[in-house]
Amino acid sequence: MTIVFASTNKNKISEIKQLLSASIKLLSLEDIGCFEDIPETAETIEGNAIFKANYVSKKYGYNCFADDTGLEVGALNGAPGVYSARYAGEQKNADDNMNKLLESLKNKNNRDAQFKTIIALRINNEQHLFEGIVKGKIIEEKKGAKGFGYDPIFVPEGFDKTFAEMEMSEKAALSHRGIATRKLIAFLENI
Ligand code: IMP
Repeated sequence: MTIVFASTNKNKISEIKQLLSASIKLLSLEDIGCFEDIPETAETIEGNAIFKANYVSKKYGYNCFADDTGLEVGALNGAPGVYSARYAGEQKNADDNMNKLLESLKNKNNRDAQFKTIIALRINNEQHLFEGIVKGKIIEEKKGAKGFGYDPIFVPEGFDKTFAEMEMSEKAALSHRGIATRKLIAFLENI
């Protein structure tokens, strides 16, 4: 089976490649000659993932999956959510985003948050969704230098260190993206 991962993120693509058996051939957008900036303008995480997967599948004629992730903070009614990448502006800067979030949570007692990943799969004209959620808390100051995005201020439930203080393998074993990805792979391996 050949399937396209509608992503330009080389780390994500090689991570998934390592987990797939040899019977599944994974192609990137680059591999199929797609160099478009696919819009991520839906109002939900699900909406963005579905749009990307369907867009590539219909236009390029491949089975395809796409992911979208957001950080949902309870005291902010789920913000930044689908706007996580550009929370502090179109420059999409992780430090600016974290600073804005820490400022928004100043003096708030409830610091509960969750990362949510949705993977949308378009295969043989059917659509399937795979969800991965990891609950945790936003701490008051950044800690750790690994990872990316909001990792330095997110402590997953049951741990006393941030995602940015974990090795990549430790984070992948419990992360939102890891959970959703393992569901997708189990599905693909059983077709
Ligand atoms: P994407 O859909 O994977 O591009 O994620 C959208 C945004 O959510 C990123 O730009 C980050 O700000 C944030 N994000 C996604 N996954 C993670 C993560 O594992 N750790 C920290 N931030 C993340």
